[in-house]
Amino acid sequence: MALNAAVVAVGTELLGEDRLDTNSLRIATVLRSCGVPLVFKSVVGDDETRLTRALQQASEEADLVIVTGGLGPTQDDRTRNAAQRLTGGTLEQDQGVLDWIRAMYERRGAQMPATNARQAEVLAGSTVLQNDRGTAPGLRFEHNGATFFLLPGVPMEADGLLETALRPWLIARGLEPLAVETELRVACLPESLVEEKLASLYAAHGGDGVAILAKPGEVLIRLRGSDAQERSDMVKAVEAALGEAVFTVVEGAGQSESLEQVAVKALRDRHASLATAESCTGGLIGSRLTTVAGSSSVYAGGAVAYANQVKINILGVDAALIERYGAVSGPVAEAMAVGAAQRFATQWSISVTGVAGPGGGSEEKPVGTVWFGLAGPGVLRSRCLLFPGDRERVRWQASQYALDMLRREVLELDALEESPWMTVTRQQPPEPSEERLGGLSR
Ligand code: AMP
Ligand code: MG
Repeated sequence: MALNAAVVAVGTELLGEDRLDTNSLRIATVLRSCGVPLVFKSVVGDDETRLTRALQQASEEADLVIVTGGLGPTQDDRTRNAAQRLTGGTLEQDQGVLDWIRAMYERRGAQMPATNARQAEVLAGSTVLQNDRGTAPGLRFEHNGATFFLLPGVPMEADGLLETALRPWLIARGLEPLAVETELRVACLPESLVEEKLASLYAAHGGDGVAILAKPGEVLIRLRGSDAQERSDMVKAVEAALGEAVFTVVEGAGQSESLEQVAVKALRDRHASLATAESCTGGLIGSRLTTVAGSSSVYAGGAVAYANQVKINILGVDAALIERYGAVSGPVAEAMAVGAAQRFATQWSISVTGVAGPGGGSEEKPVGTVWFGLAGPGVLRSRCLLFPGDRERVRWQASQYALDMLRREVLELDALEESPWMTVTRQQPPEPSEERLGGLSR
């Protein structure tokens, strides 16, 4: 049975400036993994009248309505009441739910506050969805030809019920999480270029077959085909168009690897070790590497070498190089990489030194200019890129390029040649001499 879905996120705080509706993103993930299109989404404050209208509208838009929030014990939690108004039903205290909430408090050695009794009010005829992570149970009922799931707002509790209530319900309707998609990720190519290169694939399969989603320094491509053969042919077409910029290809939605995971895996497969030397990224690369479980077998550590004096004292960069070429330069990036590999006793190292902005730019080195250094067995390279965007964007893209440069070098792939960001004249990579490698050898 084909279904489509709507999401209603409830909470006045979600309309303000410092709380985002993140639950709907995870609801979307569960729906997508079961092949249920999400066609409508709304965010509504804790106002019973507006909420009732939002629920009615959602039931007109979709067969399945997932509501999150407003099931708490306090007076501003109106979702139960709105459901009652919507359906014209009654709220009845459910003894089983009340006992369950009371027992939950007793297990923690506390007495149930009287206000929590509200959470045991159940819409007559609805199904209670037991919440093992909190006191507010979820509810499921039918209205206006749609199935409603009311889930708590606390993200951890909502997540729990998505897995214990929503997903099993979808699976029981034959909406199995099939591997209907293949996901690929592309590093360091802008979306426009990726779109251009995939134009013929897009023309053949349309927006339903090929989805292109961009974030800075990365593009995600989702391919949908009627069967595995069709998807495999589509993957081949993407790889032919984008080559080694594709760093992960995975069957199934939401399963693809991050660039840091791929880089760590490449090093681990070769029993190789890595150090970092970061100036303008301030430890971002080290932070990303250490989010990967098992990165300790690969990543030794790094230096945040922001001040010139730290580049000199900690990484052993020659002060004369900084004097002559400037801190943001190829020779300094290379010296930082060599220094990090020596200091941390690793086979590989990557370094970053750039102008993240908004100040500090010059005509010769405008804001966004970043030099990268890489040292490895018999390898010493530096490259320069000019990234668009503000400080955060420059820093993120720099971390992305550094990880990609490392991945390509370790996997013995070609360097990235085609990127509109490479507008700064870059120094030809000189032959790595024994002296410049500082004793790093194959
Ligand atoms: P509630 O169930 O409405 O009492 O919400 C409990 C907590 O979960 C509050 O701290 C909310 O800010 C948070 N919350 C509610 N809805 C969402 C949502 N859609 N995304 C993320 N957090 C939420
Ligand atoms: Mg709320």
